[in-house]
Amino acid sequence: MRVAFLGPPGAGKGTQARDLAQEWGVLHLATGDMLREAVTAGTALGREAKGHMDQGALVPDDVIIRMMAERLGAADAVRGFILDGFPRTIAQAEALARLLKDLGQTLDTVVYFDVTEPELLRRLTGRRVCRACGHTYHVTSSPPTRAGVCDACGGELYQREDDGEATVRNRLEVYRRQTEPLLDYYRQRSLLAPVSGEGPVATIRDAIRTSVGAAR
Ligand SMILES: [Zn+2]
Repeated sequence: MRVAFLGPPGAGKGTQARDLAQEWGVLHLATGDMLREAVTAGTALGREAKGHMDQGALVPDDVIIRMMAERLGAADAVRGFILDGFPRTIAQAEALARLLKDLGQTLDTVVYFDVTEPELLRRLTGRRVCRACGHTYHVTSSPPTRAGVCDACGGELYQREDDGEATVRNRLEVYRRQTEPLLDYYRQRSLLAPVSGEGPVATIRDAIRTSVGAAR
């Protein structure tokens, strides 16, 4: 099982990837987590990535690609993987194809999480965090008992700047520009399997299982 999950921020890829990787006994390779781990571990690659992140810049393709090459070449990747957050650009997709070719492997399916823009905005701007204890809520999907008040400690809930509408719209715009061209790229290679990313988590999970031929 070698698949990539593709879709906008807020599409729910991470949750599904984590659960399905466990179910299928394959690696869940989330680029964001891998970068944070490399930074924490202080590896050469982590230090390089941190330099870019500290300046508020995106980590360049070549750093991400080297990190993935190392990980995909490791012994435990032989059983398969779910890529979550990679590839994000055409350059990364081409590098991935070369990497897998060198390893004598191919990508089976690219699952595309289709979610409408209003729904993404609702999900991404609805997060509220407790000022006192850091507990997170969502105004519609996991609201506190009393609006604006933390259930755990009675603290005040607020919206982080990252979750504000302007920042969220900017993140979605970056996604559209960088990542949407990948839909055509994988459609042309007959690898793209769109699933609806809206509705109950279990229903979406079933659709993913079917799309990768792992229905049960
Ligand atoms: Zn609290």
